[in-house]
Amino acid sequence: MFENLSERLSGVFDRLTKQGALSDEDVKTALREVRVALLEADVSLPVARDFIARVQDQATGQSVTKSVTPGQQVVKIVHDALVETLRGEGDPGALKIDNPPAPILMVGLQGSGKTTTTAKLAKRLKERDGKRVLMASLDVNRPAAMEQLQILGQQIGVDTLPIVKGEDPVAIAKRAKTQASLGGYDVYMLDTAGRLHIDAELIQQAADVRDVANPRETLLVVDGLTGQDAVNVATEFDDKIGVTGVVLTRMDGDGRGGAALSMRAVTGKPIRFVGLGEKMDALETFEPDRIAGRILG
Ligand code: GDP
Repeated sequence: MFENLSERLSGVFDRLTKQGALSDEDVKTALREVRVALLEADVSLPVARDFIARVQDQATGQSVTKSVTPGQQVVKIVHDALVETLRGEGDPGALKIDNPPAPILMVGLQGSGKTTTTAKLAKRLKERDGKRVLMASLDVNRPAAMEQLQILGQQIGVDTLPIVKGEDPVAIAKRAKTQASLGGYDVYMLDTAGRLHIDAELIQQAADVRDVANPRETLLVVDGLTGQDAVNVATEFDDKIGVTGVVLTRMDGDGRGGAALSMRAVTGKPIRFVGLGEKMDALETFEPDRIAGRILG
């Protein structure tokens, strides 16, 4: 339905690059198109507006009109502004997991890729950081989800908390904590239940678990293809549970990166990792530069 953001931007910048000298009006026109393209890529209106205003200031300050390759300079300014907006403080891949056993709470909607991401992250912690990890599923309403985590655990050689029928999420979280302490684990990961939509019960359950586990990191897993919805989900979870970072999944799809931009701008929470496929290795540390490049095409 929408023209691809990357194509659109490269179209605009192609024209600029070929024009030689740029007038202020050219810059305005170009940025108007950038703004429309951002909106079409599901970047929220206030975020797009702020972003364009900032870029316009920078472009004006740097007297783009006098530059030798004005189109390229505009591209660079837009690119740098995107990176600046997307970048959080510090290394996004560095999780707070000192003081073993460190609890990591995983939250998000059903189907966002939460369970897959839990296992991917556990594998990464085990292989890259040499950590002993215990994973526990708290999704008591969906036995299949609990089994899924168990199967993934076997696949990647990471222990899962044995499933006990009839236990509630808070009891499971407590048992995970005990088991992690007694078993000498460095990290225990709590994969909370997901729903198709946010509801009070889901949030309450996650809050109860949070209160018991006192997580060092609370990572919100969001489907990177869901655009504006993703921002609403992030805002809600952050308000009610408090998140320390976001994982954007399905970035191997043809999403245009718009969710990343508004998520970061609206919630202020850093994007920590991106999911790039179904395989257990398909998880990478978030690199603002790469997403910016992708948004620009
Ligand atoms: P949950 O309900 O949030 O726990 O979601 P799951 O972890 O079960 O994932 C739902 C589906 O999305 C599964 O088929 C996963 O393999 C798939 N999935 C998860 N992350 C990614 C990703 O980054 N890219 C792609 N292409 N698929 C993913």
